[in-house]
Amino acid sequence: MSHHFYQSEYEYRQVMSEPKINKCACGYDPNNDLLDCFRKVNRYSETSRLVCPEHNGGCGVWVQGSTKDETIAKWNRQEYEKPEDY
Ligand SMILES: [Zn+2]
Repeated sequence: MSHHFYQSEYEYRQVMSEPKINKCACGYDPNNDLLDCFRKVNRYSETSRLVCPEHNGGCGVWVQGSTKDETIAKWNRQEYEKPEDY
């Protein structure tokens, strides 16, 4: 894992415990592998991206929002970007 932006696994779990992240439309559940699926774009910004990882059995769609809550809200509304736009 190369994208550990949080101080500890504990902090990461606290940050990610709300709001609830739904399964992808393809059936993949990002909650099973949040460290891989949920990424801050950089450590100085709240902009983040939620990805359905093709290398892990997902379909490759993704969303991006300016805050964690916005990213998750877009994901839960299934406002996905297609893998080719990644
Ligand atoms: Zn998917």
